[in-house]
Amino acid sequence: MGMDQATSVQTAYRGIAWVEGAFVPAEEAKVSVFDYGFSRSDVTYDVVHVWDGRFFRLEHHLDRFMASMAALRMSPGLDREGLRQVLLECVARSGLRDSFVAMLCTRGRPPQGSRDLRLCRNKLIVYAVPFVWVVPPERQASGISAIISSIPRIGAESVDPTVKNYHWLDLDRSLFEAYDRGADTAILLAPDGSVAEGPGFNVFIVRDGRVITPDAGALEGITRRTVLDICAERGIPTEVRPVSREELLDADEILTCTTAGGVMPVVRIEDRILGNGAPGPVSMALREFYWARHADPAETTPVPYPEDGT
Ligand code: PLP
Repeated sequence: MGMDQATSVQTAYRGIAWVEGAFVPAEEAKVSVFDYGFSRSDVTYDVVHVWDGRFFRLEHHLDRFMASMAALRMSPGLDREGLRQVLLECVARSGLRDSFVAMLCTRGRPPQGSRDLRLCRNKLIVYAVPFVWVVPPERQASGISAIISSIPRIGAESVDPTVKNYHWLDLDRSLFEAYDRGADTAILLAPDGSVAEGPGFNVFIVRDGRVITPDAGALEGITRRTVLDICAERGIPTEVRPVSREELLDADEILTCTTAGGVMPVVRIEDRILGNGAPGPVSMALREFYWARHADPAETTPVPYPEDGT
């Protein structure tokens, strides 16, 4: 481990969290070791970003998070409107203009001596920290490299990927595989061999001008949906259907997309260099259109920072 890594581990996290009904410095946000969210990954979460002082597609993230909690039979005692207010206030208090904003609901812990899930008090936590890039912008501009992981994504029948979750061991293992092979990241296949998703992102391929993304086996990402909306508005043909490993290896362009980084072009998949080794034109256009929407009042919600007097 290099010195930088040791130093970064010790540095306090900046930001604000909301835990047990109170706002606290992010560094003080803690969960109990007895919380099943920790010991069983029995937790769901969502991440929305604030860019230049505005939430992007906040209602879409709230829709997904409320649906995820319902799917896991969680009710944290705060309704959607209450949650929206906590999110707005959390970022306002943090003062962050570009922020990674997480909301999570853990199963909580049962009374001592019991293991009855129905007796757990579900716990909602919100935090706003400085924006996190899955891939730093300078790396994005030149394009990233990806491997196809030898580890399949956990089966959708076991852990529903549309309920955003902390079952990340397959994704983390794929990242170590990518590091070992000198790549930036990994793309995982579903157990049936079709393309699923990667550690924190959805995948698109571009083939003969068509923008194609898997229809199953992955989170229904808000960035993915935004990319599909952009294509629909601009008359770019799309397909939402199974994508094979061969199609991925043979694509004209590949792009990955996530709230924590936007649209991130891939220029190398396994040993194959795509195009001339620079991000393709469709990927670059989608990336530009994606960020341009962050100033659109129809897609964004302003943060009520106290200094703005809003
Ligand atoms: N897939 C996984 C496993 C993720 O964790 C994420 C986001 O973090 C995504 C896809 C992309 O989803 P979104 O665009 O909503 O951020």
